[in-house]
Amino acid sequence: MKNIREISKADLNDIIINEMGESKYRAQQIYDWIWKKNVSRFEDMTNLSKSLQAALALRFFFRNLSIDSMQESVDGTVKYKFKTSDQHFIEGVLIPTEHRKTACISSQIGCSLSCKFCATGKMGHIRNLHFDEIYEQVALINKEVEKKYGCKLTNLVLMGMGEPLLNYKEVLKAINYITQPDAFAMSPRRITLSTAGIAKMIKQLGDDQVRFKLALSLHAANDVKRSQLMPINEHNNLKTLATALNYFYQQTKGEITLEYTLLQNFNDTVKDAEELVKFYRTVPVDLINIIEYNTIKNGIFQPSSEDTLERFVGILSKQQVNVRVRRSRGKDIAAACGQLVV
Ligand code: SF4
Repeated sequence: MKNIREISKADLNDIIINEMGESKYRAQQIYDWIWKKNVSRFEDMTNLSKSLQAALALRFFFRNLSIDSMQESVDGTVKYKFKTSDQHFIEGVLIPTEHRKTACISSQIGCSLSCKFCATGKMGHIRNLHFDEIYEQVALINKEVEKKYGCKLTNLVLMGMGEPLLNYKEVLKAINYITQPDAFAMSPRRITLSTAGIAKMIKQLGDDQVRFKLALSLHAANDVKRSQLMPINEHNNLKTLATALNYFYQQTKGEITLEYTLLQNFNDTVKDAEELVKFYRTVPVDLINIIEYNTIKNGIFQPSSEDTLERFVGILSKQQVNVRVRRSRGKDIAAACGQLVV
């Protein structure tokens, strides 16, 4: 038995036409069911005969992801708990606004990077997700969006559980299907991959000429503080990251944002803001997102006060930094940035 999503279009055509004796038209119908209509059961391929559905089920399988539970926030954000076929759990989030329906999805079960402000980091790393498990999160959230809003998902962020660049091959393969015109067909410009900052892999993205956007979770523009917060900084310091971001930009001309979560009395002083401006000047960055911190269970940080946030943003704006404050969504259901844990 083969996982049907692991088979390329050419190989699938070959099997359906030459081994199963079906027409080219049927092969295309089956491909559309898998990648356009995103079914994950052969009996749902309703324009195929029962005997063909049964014949497919004898040769192939889907590595299914299912929605185990969902929670809706007062602000409309929905957190999905997905169950993998080997009984692990991951989380994804739908953030609906009037004009955008954005899914935030996971790339790993748990995470090895232990960022101090993050609930996922406390779980440790269980395993990487396969490309079809990454893809299916998008397909399943999209089905919910179609049901509720009558439209398709518009945007995608890889900011859920895990570090996408430590599951590079599977993440890129999933994005390939998400963007392919004969599959999910989302524009790569509507996809943002967020990384804690692995310089070598940021350069690799440049070499691979990716067309999606990149977000660097910066959170401190000073190596001592950043290493305290994100141990990955010890081997990927700010200078190395700036070089990698410049390389990425040279190769792709892609949009880069910096993510900066304000933590009370840790990275929210005037000096911190000035250091951030200094770092911003060294990288080809379009925007800095200042993010409200969401407290986590047994966490050591608190969010900065509104006054401190305003002072911090004011310093950046005065220096002509393109800055935006990102208010958290889904806080009441622990679906906000850094809160995902199962
Ligand atoms: S913030 Fe991202 S990279 Fe850091 S521990 Fe959490 S999931 Fe991992």
